[in-house]
Amino acid sequence: MILSQFEGRFPTEESCVSYFRDIRLRQGVICPKCGGNTCKWLHGRKAFQCTGCGYSIPLTKGTVMEHSKLSLRTWFYAMHLMTSIKQVLSAKEVQYQLRIDQYPPVWLMMMKLRSIMGKRESIYQLSDEVELDEAFFPIRTPEDARGQKIKRGVGSQQQAKVLVIVESKPVDSILCEYLSMTTVQSIEKAGKLTASSKRQTIGKVVHYIKMFVIDNLSSETLNKIVRKHVEKDTVIITDGSSSHVKFKEYFKRHEQYVEYNVDDVVKTNLPWVHVVIGRCRNGIAAIHGEVDKQFLQLYLNEFCWKFNRRFFRDSNEPKYDLFDRLVKIAACYTSDIKWRDYDFTDDEII
Ligand SMILES: [Zn+2]
Repeated sequence: MILSQFEGRFPTEESCVSYFRDIRLRQGVICPKCGGNTCKWLHGRKAFQCTGCGYSIPLTKGTVMEHSKLSLRTWFYAMHLMTSIKQVLSAKEVQYQLRIDQYPPVWLMMMKLRSIMGKRESIYQLSDEVELDEAFFPIRTPEDARGQKIKRGVGSQQQAKVLVIVESKPVDSILCEYLSMTTVQSIEKAGKLTASSKRQTIGKVVHYIKMFVIDNLSSETLNKIVRKHVEKDTVIITDGSSSHVKFKEYFKRHEQYVEYNVDDVVKTNLPWVHVVIGRCRNGIAAIHGEVDKQFLQLYLNEFCWKFNRRFFRDSNEPKYDLFDRLVKIAACYTSDIKWRDYDFTDDEII
């Protein structure tokens, strides 16, 4: 959805309320008091009323907007910006665009949206064939490390460890997805993909991705996450690090390409995981500057959610409308993220 369409669809707070009410009714409103699933809409009160016990259920109860003082249209506008702009977006930019005086509620809104994006992604598993690697993302020096000598390389206090899992698929299956969208842009992209696959020896393209901030690189830590997020019947491709020792016990096959010749492995065996790491790390650094480790996962959530739906922008079909998808997620997940009293002065570059 582009800006002029947003203005046309949601000119007022009331139009946003009606839209969100309809989405909630289609998803089913459950009464938090009696568990009943029938209700009626109370005009003028922005609430449903349970027909079983009469309890009044606010429109945003049980959604990501619960407890927010911002208007629904502000949330819609932020969701529109987040889904219509290809890059990740800073809260400072949203605050500026919406001319909101206070930064904390905007920051909180954005972080909550990033948190529900992660919740949504966690219901899916990767499959077929995945590339897996660990990456290091720059972070703001933690409070307890300030004044200490900063270590370099692995173990540095200014880096966070991130596990990156990337599903790579034969070009054919991605082509089919592009062609199924039948827009001029998607057909053009399919053509480009065919041309580039002829030039590549690997003939695979990246599909869905997942990224997780991890505290350590132990085999136990990695196994736990990978087993949860990757289907059993999957081929795992790694650089053969000692943290990956148990993958062959759990998955269909574990292909290990030890990086004797780093260039070779990166280009032929683990190409996409490195592309994704580079793109995400640069995007976060460019928009947010130095991020605090406790928030890094939220930024990764936004990057992965958008990356996994990157084809959708080219489609005019309503079912691929990213804004609608985010509003639907907003209606069924809550977030417990709270405002932290924190010095944001040089965080999040506009
Ligand atoms: Zn009830």
